[in-house]
Amino acid sequence: MTIAGCDLLARLWDVLRRVMAQAVEDGRIITVDLPDRLSTPESQSQRAYKQENCRNCGALVMTSTVGGRTAYVCPVEQT
Ligand SMILES: [Zn+2]
Repeated sequence: MTIAGCDLLARLWDVLRRVMAQAVEDGRIITVDLPDRLSTPESQSQRAYKQENCRNCGALVMTSTVGGRTAYVCPVEQT
């Protein structure tokens, strides 16, 4: 793996740790940062989850089944 790849994984790990720690407090995973949460309605805080089009870029959201649950993915920003 390249050094750049290691940096990317380290950054990803940092984000995942922060999101999961917050998820334990919230009892669910919310990917909108705290300053944006208060002004963001619940329905708009989910950028791909249960959306037809990605709220960030407008791409058609793709779904697949993972472990018996439906996963929602923006094919432009999350692949
Ligand atoms: Zn998108």
